[in-house]
Order: sequence, then structure tokens, then C-alpha cells
Amino acid sequence: MREGEFELIQHCFAGKAQVRHPSVLLGIGDDASIHALPAGQEWVVSTDTSVQGVHWPEDMPLQTAGKRAVASALSDLAAMGAEAVCAWLNVICSGRQQVHAMAEGVTHALETFGVMLAGGDTVHGPVNSISVTVAGYLPAGTAMRRDQVRAGQCLWLCGRVGFAALGLQQWLQGERNSAGVDAFVNIQPLLYAGKRLREAGVRSCIDISDGLLQDAGHLARASRVALELHLDALPAWNLLRQQAGERAAELALGGGEDYALLFAAPKDLPALEGIAVPIGRSLSRGEEGTVQVYCDGRIIESVDAGYDHFAE
Ligand code: ADP
Ligand code: MG
Repeated sequence: MREGEFELIQHCFAGKAQVRHPSVLLGIGDDASIHALPAGQEWVVSTDTSVQGVHWPEDMPLQTAGKRAVASALSDLAAMGAEAVCAWLNVICSGRQQVHAMAEGVTHALETFGVMLAGGDTVHGPVNSISVTVAGYLPAGTAMRRDQVRAGQCLWLCGRVGFAALGLQQWLQGERNSAGVDAFVNIQPLLYAGKRLREAGVRSCIDISDGLLQDAGHLARASRVALELHLDALPAWNLLRQQAGERAAELALGGGEDYALLFAAPKDLPALEGIAVPIGRSLSRGEEGTVQVYCDGRIIESVDAGYDHFAE
């Protein structure tokens, strides 16, 4: 029998991911899903879209693209410190086979990260793309926000930057087995670390998706502080320099797709030991919204500011 839209949804999504969450009272199958919120908690919701040829290379398997789309969406919940609960998927595919492939990766990611599929939409279209909406919750008033950096705090990084961008370049040159390609392909949303930070009292955080410099700029502007970053303090900086040579600074600052967490906290917060490293500070002086980058004691003046979809 020909697999129509409803069979396709059933085969690929409704009957696939096995994760359930008690807060989802009604999931796939009705016009909308229904959700309960435990007392004292707040919802945290985020959505992201990825398009073939823009967000992932044309020759990347759709399974991988689906997996990456879910993982990168969950990184936004990690940055807020939320407990991930469920996801909705809007899938646009050029054929049934493409839906199956994308769904396979999505299902794998949902199961890996323990996230329930609560609904979505599946439509036919000329370019394969996927939008993932994710929801989670956390105790009311405790979310880590971009606008809560205080002057005089230490800036911390959890995770690595620069390797995913190196991996994308290597992928485009045909490489499939390198640490960089692995970082680019296997996005790890730092959900556990995000929750730990929030529980430790951290109030300001951002995930690095568009490049360290651009995302640090978002923190600086939202919090109206000046920030100082030290490249040579980055986790695995020497390894990146070994692997990327002169392009290391550009990749670390402007590469993107790192899904590391940049956050502000006191320098001596014991809970941070082993999960993050200090890479800079917020200044009590300096121009609001600016980011100064240093390497080996010298200020770096000219750096790429990250990816802008609508840049001319
Ligand atoms: P409606 O016509 O009411 O918008 P649909 O026919 O689009 O509903 O979808 C039927 C059910 O299947 C809905 O509950 C919807 O949330 C779910 N669904 C459709 N596509 C997906 C998908 N890609 N992932 C998860 N659930 C989906
Ligand atoms: Mg309907």
C-alpha cells in the first residue's frame, strides 16, 4: 500500500521514539498536545530551523542532519539551565525516503537525550529542512539569562570552541574521520552541565552557536557590560592551534556550531571545578556591549564576528 501522509507520520514519528514524560498529558495524534507544569516551575521554550545546504552540507546524510537539529535545539535549553522535557518537529522533505532518513536521526537523538516527541508537522517541499521546538522547565525565577552578567564576574566556558568549524572545513574537503569532524557531526547539548550551573546559582549563560565572539557580544550587550576574553585560556587551545595552525583564532572566535556554554560567575565557585574553565572576565570599566580579545598577552584587533544569515 502507498504510504500516505498519515502512515508516514505513524511510521516515522508517532510510533517511533519511545520516550514518555509525565508532564505531557496528550502527545502526538490530536490537534495539539496538552502539558502539565509541576508546581513552582516555569516553562522554557525554544525553536530552531535548519536547511539543507545552509545549515548542513548537501552530502551529509539526513539521519545526521536530523540528529544535529535536535541536539542543537536542546543546547538552548542547556544554556537556560532547563530540564529538557519534549520536542515538536516541523519537517519539510522532498520525498518519503527523505522523511524516513531524517526521522531515524531525530528518533536517535530524542532517545539519547531522553526527550519526548509531543507533535509536529510533516510536509512535502523542494528543500529538505527541519524545525525543532523544544520545551523544558526549571524552578520559577532561576533561568540563566543573557542579561544577568554583573561587572567584576569571571567568564567561564564549559566545552570546546573552534573544533566544529574546523570539522566543517575538513568535511567539505572530504575528511570523515577526525576530531573536528566528530565535533561538527556529534553535537552534544550540555544539558547536565547547564542544570548543574543553574543549581549552583549561576544566573547568566549563553550557548555558543554563532561563534564565541558574536555570542559573547550578545551577553555583553544584553547585560550592558564590557567583556574580556583570553584565547590562550580556552580549553584545548593548544590542540586547536596544532590542528588549525594560523586559523585557530578565527575558528575559535567566529566558527560557530560549538554548543559550548559561556557564563558568568564568581571566580571561586566550587561547583564549577571540573565542568568549566575561566576564560575571561566582565569589567567594571570599559564600553558597554564590547568584547576585547587577548591572546598571549596581546590584544587581537581584527577578528571575524561570526555568521550572519542576512549579511550582504
Ligand atoms: P493537523 O492537521 O491537525 O495539523 P496533522 O495531520 O498535521 O494534524 O498531524 C497529525 C498528528 O501528527 C498531530 O498530532 C501532529 O502533532 C503529529 N505530527 C505530524 N507530523 C509530525 C512530526 N514530524 N513529528 C511529530 N508529530 C507529528
Ligand atoms: Mg488539526
